[in-house]
Amino acid sequence: MITSFDKVLEKCPLCSSPKIKPFANWTFKKIPLQYQQCHSCGFIFQNPTYSAASWGKFYKTDYRALYNDDSKPAAEVIKIQNDRADHYSQWLSNLNGKVKSHLDIGSSAGIFLKKIKDSFGVVKSTGVEPGDDYRQFASENGFDIFEDIDQLIESKPEKYDLITLCHVLEHIPDMVDFLKKIRAHLLSENGFLFIEVPNIRGGQSFEIAHPNCFSHKTLNDVLEMAGFKMVRHAEHGMPRTNHKESKIYLSSLSTPSEKQAEKASLASSEYLDSSLNHIRKGFTLDSWTMFWLKYPIKKLLGKFPV
Ligand SMILES: [Zn+2]
Repeated sequence: MITSFDKVLEKCPLCSSPKIKPFANWTFKKIPLQYQQCHSCGFIFQNPTYSAASWGKFYKTDYRALYNDDSKPAAEVIKIQNDRADHYSQWLSNLNGKVKSHLDIGSSAGIFLKKIKDSFGVVKSTGVEPGDDYRQFASENGFDIFEDIDQLIESKPEKYDLITLCHVLEHIPDMVDFLKKIRAHLLSENGFLFIEVPNIRGGQSFEIAHPNCFSHKTLNDVLEMAGFKMVRHAEHGMPRTNHKESKIYLSSLSTPSEKQAEKASLASSEYLDSSLNHIRKGFTLDSWTMFWLKYPIKKLLGKFPV
């Protein structure tokens, strides 16, 4: 029995506008999901969704079963994490030698922590990982791993020069407050925040555990609201594909900013039109099936996005 959605949002979580409209219906492992879009700032989000209490219950009882993850660091999971760690550390190579401490939130088996430690000259590596088995695995390999960021903050750690959040923010329902907490308690004054999320403009990112969808605009809005400034970003397919037209992921590097936006900025009509008329068309179940039928041919011809 999967936890039922128990929260309906009447206004946009990022700009409080009541102009929210259906964007896409999606079925994830036979569970119907609905996503809505704010017609003021363009944010696309799960609605109905879970209350804070139900998210807790969902992660305790449903998440593992649904995501078919026995939580053991199996060889293929480790391989994917290795490939990702290689890609992230390449993307961040200009920070090599400039950061002395690294906090990876969602640190899983600790592979990215190890990569940065070994190649960047980092002397302190800490992880945050809610999964018991992964936490234990990484702890056994010599890393300090906390169950959540509140536990870490309570331990009053020295602030970190580099904080990384890879495929985490799409899972966090109150992401602006979450990032504000990181900025206030965990990131050093001249520190760097690296975030990677799925890019809604490069592929669908509708999953039961994803209350948030990101475009470059939305990620920029969220960062500005939390007191950060995005200094670099890329839309890409790595490590899955290095095809230059593939934009399934969105990577960003940010630094703390003096300014903090009160709410998400207004989206232009071009932005809204492109998300409604171009993106949504690709997300009906029929066209998603067609996507996979046509995929081998388009791949052969080098035609992306497919
Ligand atoms: Zn909005």
